[in-house]
Amino acid sequence: MGKPTHKAGIAFLALMLILSACSSPARTVPKPETLVTALPVRANEVHETFAKRNLMGHLEALQRVADESGGNRAAGTPGYEASARYVEEQLRAAGYNPVRQVFTYRDEDLEENRETFNILADTAGSADHTIVVGAHLDSVRRGPGINDNASGVATLIETARWIAETGVEPKNRVRFAFWGAEEVDLLGSQHYVDELSKSEISQTAVNINIDMAASPNGGRFVHDGDGSSFGDAGPAGSQGLESILLDYFSENSLPAEPTGFIGDSDYDAFFRAGIATGGLFAGDVGTKTSEQVQKFGGTLNQDHDPCYHRSCDNIENINQELLTEMGGAMGYATLAYAMTQM
Ligand SMILES: [Zn+2]
Repeated sequence: MGKPTHKAGIAFLALMLILSACSSPARTVPKPETLVTALPVRANEVHETFAKRNLMGHLEALQRVADESGGNRAAGTPGYEASARYVEEQLRAAGYNPVRQVFTYRDEDLEENRETFNILADTAGSADHTIVVGAHLDSVRRGPGINDNASGVATLIETARWIAETGVEPKNRVRFAFWGAEEVDLLGSQHYVDELSKSEISQTAVNINIDMAASPNGGRFVHDGDGSSFGDAGPAGSQGLESILLDYFSENSLPAEPTGFIGDSDYDAFFRAGIATGGLFAGDVGTKTSEQVQKFGGTLNQDHDPCYHRSCDNIENINQELLTEMGGAMGYATLAYAMTQM
C-alpha cells in the first residue's frame, strides 16, 4: 500500500474515527440465566462459606480505628486514613495491588479545600468488561459508621479475598472500589465516573453497590433494576444484577424485597452515566412494616437502623446474620459477573 496523499490521509483518518467509534466495545448486558450458569458454585455453598468468613473481624478492626481516631472515620480525618491503611493491608495480603485515586473537595464545615481518595484494586480479567464492586469507606463525623458502611466494606474485602483464595480466573476484570467522601456528597464515586473516558464508560459492564449491610432491625433489600416495583428502572443491564441477587436469596430460602433508586448512594453516578447498577441495602431510617417483620423478623414500627448517622452506630449496632447473608449475596453476584462470557 502506498503512502496516502494528504487528502486521502484526512479521509483515511475520518474513516478510522468512524470505525473506532463503531467498534468501541458496546456494553454487553448478560442475561440473568447466563449469569447463573457461569457460576462454578451454588448459592447454598456460598452461603455456608460466608458464614465462616471473618466479616466481623473487619468491623472490629474498623471500630478500633474509630476509637483511636476521635470516634469517627470521616473524610479528611485520621480515622479515614487509618481505615484506608487497614483496607490496603487486607487487599495486599490477598495478593491485590490497591491504588489511591486522589481528588479534592470542599469541606463546608472547615471552609477549605481538602484532599481525599478512593481505593481501587483489580483482579485479572478483560478490562473490556469491568465489574465495579463498590462500597463507601468514610463515615459521618458524628460516629464510627460501623453499619454505615464498615459493613459494606467488610463484604467487599471478604469477596476480594474469597475470589483470590478460590483461584478462579475471572474472565472479566473485577475492580473493588472503596469510595471516599460519600457522606460529604457521594463525591468519590462521582469523581471516579467523571474520570472515565467514553470508551471506559462503555467498558464498565456493571456497578454493584453495597451501602449498609447489617442494620440491626433491617432487611434484605435489592435495588429495583427492572423498575417493576418503583417504576424507575436502572440503565440497561440493571435487571440482570437485581435478578442474580434475588436468585441468591431465593436459593437460600431468604425472602428479599426491592428498594428504589433515590440517588442516596454511590450507584447514582453510574446510574446517571447509563451504566447498569444496583446492589444491596439493609435499611436506614425507614420503619419496619408488619409485612417486613414476617419476612425478616425484627421489631414492628421501629427504624431499620435506629443508630443511623449517630454515635451509637458502633460494633453493638450490627446484625451478624444479615451481614453474613449480604456478604454471601455480594460474593455470589460478583463471581457471576466475573465468570460470565460477555
Ligand atoms: Zn452509607
